[in-house]
Amino acid sequence: MTIQPATQSDALANLLREDRSFAPDAGFAANAVADASRYGAAAADRLGYWASRAREVLTWEKDFTQVLDWSEAPVARWFADGTLNAAYNALDRHVENGLGDRVAIHFEGEPGDTRSYTYAQLTEEVKKAANAFESLGVAKGDRVAVYLPMIPEAVITMLACARIGAIHSVVFGGFSAEALRSRIDDAEAKLVVTADGTFRRGKPSPLKPAVDQALAESGHTVQNVIVVKRNHQDVAWTPGLDRWWHETVSTASAEHTAVAHEAEHPLFILYTSGTTGKPKGILHTTGGYLVQGAATHKDTFDLHPETDVYWCTADVGWVTGHSYVTYAPLVNGATQVIYEGTPDCPHQGRWWEIVEKYGVTILYTAPTAIRTFMKWGRQIPDSHDLSSLRVLGSVGESINPEAWMWYREVIGSNNGPGTDGAPGPRKEHPAPIVDTWWQTETGAHMIAPLPGVTATKPGSAQVPVPGIGVDVVDEMGAPVPNGQGGFLVIREPWPAMLRGIWGDMDRYQDTYWSRFEHMYFAGDGAKRDEDGDIWLLGRVDDVMNVSGHRLSTTEIESALVSHPLVAEAAVVGAKDETTGEAVVAFVILRTTPGEGEDVEQVLRAHVAKEIGPIAKPRHILAVPELPKTRSGKIMRRLLKDVAEGRDPGDATTLADPTVMAQIAADLRKG
Ligand code: ATP
Ligand code: MG
Repeated sequence: MTIQPATQSDALANLLREDRSFAPDAGFAANAVADASRYGAAAADRLGYWASRAREVLTWEKDFTQVLDWSEAPVARWFADGTLNAAYNALDRHVENGLGDRVAIHFEGEPGDTRSYTYAQLTEEVKKAANAFESLGVAKGDRVAVYLPMIPEAVITMLACARIGAIHSVVFGGFSAEALRSRIDDAEAKLVVTADGTFRRGKPSPLKPAVDQALAESGHTVQNVIVVKRNHQDVAWTPGLDRWWHETVSTASAEHTAVAHEAEHPLFILYTSGTTGKPKGILHTTGGYLVQGAATHKDTFDLHPETDVYWCTADVGWVTGHSYVTYAPLVNGATQVIYEGTPDCPHQGRWWEIVEKYGVTILYTAPTAIRTFMKWGRQIPDSHDLSSLRVLGSVGESINPEAWMWYREVIGSNNGPGTDGAPGPRKEHPAPIVDTWWQTETGAHMIAPLPGVTATKPGSAQVPVPGIGVDVVDEMGAPVPNGQGGFLVIREPWPAMLRGIWGDMDRYQDTYWSRFEHMYFAGDGAKRDEDGDIWLLGRVDDVMNVSGHRLSTTEIESALVSHPLVAEAAVVGAKDETTGEAVVAFVILRTTPGEGEDVEQVLRAHVAKEIGPIAKPRHILAVPELPKTRSGKIMRRLLKDVAEGRDPGDATTLADPTVMAQIAADLRKG
């Protein structure tokens, strides 16, 4: 690879200006779990800091003597001679500590059915599942594919695998039979756990037929399929292969002793969403992953497990559902809400009804959801009592300043409903927003504010988590000065880092460790503002080069979303003979434009005013939907195909595969 010397144009242009900043409120800070001393402790002795967090958040069967072994870089070994059991840490020890009656999970089904599990009950369910899996011949190191909706059995299955040392590979319930089969084959899974189906938008939605189809062709490694009865639809049945959960797991013994596993024993494989290429089977191990997950879950969300009710809206098919639904909250002894369905079923206020019903105090969701609620209108949350909320999290993509302010003002300031459709009284101290940057690969938060410490700016993920060495560098790997953009890298190994790509260690090396020497390349662009705070600018693969200026997608999209006409926006660069690339924007409009209103002209002028004429889109196309993965990320490469007149490429990980056909059809019409 030839590396060009850094020039001004190699840096990402720094376009959008944001001057607002919100200091933490003193009352919040006084009771916060984490204070500024975390940064000092980690800076003084990074490995010592992680060692003490490891002993604080986990119970080790055998304590470790070495914190980090980096001699086989880039494969790290953390706490390697320590042993522990993940499920014991998430469950049994809380029961032993007298917390057996605390609710672990409040489950809310889409049709309105509910179930709650105390820590004692959840422990019992996991022990039964562990016994059932073992009786089917699943042993330590075997792989288990999990193809389930957002129901408690998903968490129970994952923890049962962890308990016996089996490696789970959760495949999103929305993925096709082919996607499922390729993941089963890649990991050589022995067992599949699925359900007859789930409910989506009020209708039964099947899952089992995809498993049947995936296993129809021979040559697979699956010996058993366990099926949870959830939506009571008829399913095809293969005797000798299929068994019901209620006949296999529910009937198993509730006595099971957890044996400890090595800290570096593999915990799970999870495939990335494939936004930028072929999905990668990311491998995580046990000790370091749990340490950083639990420590960040405590600090970033200011978790007080005795009183908080935590709700992370992510599906378990995504890394957020692994780290911040299944593992960290339970390791921390928290009470959490799990919701099965869509936010608009049976009405667009469902989430706010859930917040009100369970008194949710910490909400963790994605910007795409927030923009959807903005589009539906503030009158919906305004008519609910959201006063219990005290911390608001965001993850998955940059949160546009516009959406950040709405989150703060409409959700975080809600102090009870208003009357006659007017907003109710506002909170004097709105709930702080914590924007968390991380990846499937990083396993846990890497850049995030501490809510009682950090003054936050709308749209910035702020600062590295204590003990994490994040930097923004130029082409040559030198740190950029404040006020400039570049590449996001991680300088030092971190506890929850991936240990490789399943079955393809060369790809691990190539993808993450070859762009810069001795630094992990995250694939994202970022900038440091004048204060040194970090702003994520989208993927470097999506960076556009317009007349020699490198423009990021995030800032132009944020400028578009800040116009009242626009609900959502995606921009891509399309080849252009004169400028190299031209900015093409796809927008979802919030309202139908008025008679004779030239939306394209209005929005081009708005972008020029917000960030400068260079960023003005050449074309702006109004579309009904954008192609998104199940974690809410826009698949820009598909839009780029469309913008350059090609047939869109692989769309198998889209949440709704029909969206691209619709956009292409609209374009032909237009
Ligand atoms: P693939 O690598 O196959 O394309 P993916 O990257 O979409 O899959 P994830 O690991 O879920 O799969 O996504 C991580 C990416 O999401 C980050 O690299 C970043 O681009 C984006 N991201 C996550 N959180 C934030 C955030 N708070 N701010 C900005 N971007 C974020
Ligand atoms: Mg990625």
